[in-house]
Amino acid sequence: MPAKLQGEMQPTIYRFKLGGFDVATIMDSKVIRSGLTPSFGGEAHAAEVKALAAANHIEADRYEHPFTPTVVNTGKELVLFDTGCGSLSAEHERLKGRLPPGQLVARLAQAGYQPEDVDVVVLTHGHPDHIGGLTKGGQLVFPNARYVIGATEFDFWNKGENVREARKFNRELYVKIVVPLANRATFIKPGDEVVSGITAVDAFGHSPGLLAFHIESEGKRLLAWADTCNHYVVAIQRPDLHLDVDDDKEKAVLTRKRVLDMAATEGISVAGFHMPFPGLGYVERAGGTYRWVPHSYQLNL
Ligand SMILES: [Zn+2]
Repeated sequence: MPAKLQGEMQPTIYRFKLGGFDVATIMDSKVIRSGLTPSFGGEAHAAEVKALAAANHIEADRYEHPFTPTVVNTGKELVLFDTGCGSLSAEHERLKGRLPPGQLVARLAQAGYQPEDVDVVVLTHGHPDHIGGLTKGGQLVFPNARYVIGATEFDFWNKGENVREARKFNRELYVKIVVPLANRATFIKPGDEVVSGITAVDAFGHSPGLLAFHIESEGKRLLAWADTCNHYVVAIQRPDLHLDVDDDKEKAVLTRKRVLDMAATEGISVAGFHMPFPGLGYVERAGGTYRWVPHSYQLNL
């Protein structure tokens, strides 16, 4: 008897030490999306994006889009950055097939954590793939957590002024899922500390108040940049291209350039929510722009 074909098997949990902290990146889910172009750069830059894809050995017509929250155990508190897609696609007809079912809770358990163990949930921003796992059937998924939310982001979605057409449903979700958490939330701005060793960084643009986070323990540093860059080739090698899902496109370009420059200059490790799993790497300067260098073993030593 020949051995049975087993199909694909891929890692979804990665844990390492950052000084005195345990850090894990956990893939909540992923989708295959069609077309890097026109999402990145619009029709005007289609040929350039296709050429860039070919030069980097990836298809231009289909790309893998992972959703990978980061969880940090400081030894005192368990801090979860974003919650993945949750059961949004099951609970909302219009999201069926657009967002995958979130697996975060099951995979957190594989990493040794129950939902009750999460002390702090940090929301980098209010897009569906980041807030979807906060509730299930109207119940809080992380019942003991306090919430840390960017003040600018919260005000934008809560007030609901100047929400573009494509984000109107996103605003409905935010009002339903996040606004009720206000009474157990701390609202922060760039430069503020979440817990000792974790500080917010201005990454406004992709969403009105997107926050990245510096995570530091015993001199080891990690930048969790959330959605500052949404594709490991196009957004990093061409940070100037507008992206359809960026809410403030010009500000997103300026933020990408500033954060990429900082990551390259300081040589720090980066965790990116939409970078290829385990979502960890470095930014290096290349050809007048930047290049994503995937993590190999640097964080394991
Ligand atoms: Zn996202």
